[in-house]
Amino acid sequence: MSYSVSPIGFVRSCFKEKFAIPRQPQLAPAARGVLELIPPFDQAHALDGLEQVSHVWLLFLFHQALEAEPRLRVRPPRLGGNRMVGVFATRSTHRPNGIGQSVVRLERIEPGRLHLSGIDLLDGTPVLDIKPYVPYADAVADARNGLANNTPELIAVRWTETSLEQARGEALRLKEPLQALIEQCLAQDPRPAYQAPAPERRYGTRLWDVEVRWHYPDPASITVVEVLRVEG
Ligand code: SAM
Repeated sequence: MSYSVSPIGFVRSCFKEKFAIPRQPQLAPAARGVLELIPPFDQAHALDGLEQVSHVWLLFLFHQALEAEPRLRVRPPRLGGNRMVGVFATRSTHRPNGIGQSVVRLERIEPGRLHLSGIDLLDGTPVLDIKPYVPYADAVADARNGLANNTPELIAVRWTETSLEQARGEALRLKEPLQALIEQCLAQDPRPAYQAPAPERRYGTRLWDVEVRWHYPDPASITVVEVLRVEG
């Protein structure tokens, strides 16, 4: 038996590559994007009442991680990347139907467009549904998760004089909180937990239209070395 679903819209996101996207929403409040709705969901009456809601659940497709064969066990990066657990005990992108869910802040609504922040979604992510966050039902006071009970530890993020100047300049051009976005994303330490950082090794990702490059001068800190606009 199979069912088909189709997107109601697509996310235009600050994240142009998977690497360094936070592992969950809300970890980088400066991560912003726009959900562009497609007909007929772009009509005003589909969004009527949503202005009373601060956060929404997005159900979406991990369109860059879809696989023909379902995996039953996965290695979550949060567990060091070397421990296998059942796929249903994780929020891994490798899932039977490729469906993700994120609770994100609804900043403002324009016709056919929802401005969002705190996202953990790649640019172009197809969204299947939007549901309002319902505090009395969704916030579970005594919830526990032995595999992911604590918020991730943060790593110190430092700048060189040049990279900070570059980030501030690009932030002004983009009219986006780029410095905060870089600090919030890199503080999550995107490197796989099992990978020992060689100080000379450079890491990089693309946020908006800028390439951000950094390294680990020591295992406990990141230094941003370059923030450069890229074409295309
Ligand atoms: N909050 C969601 C959930 O729990 O279903 C996503 C959690 S998943 C661990 C987060 C990761 O998904 C991000 O770090 C990013 O690398 C990846 N990701 C985000 N959007 C994606 C997409 N459209 N396709 C594939 N991977 C994506």
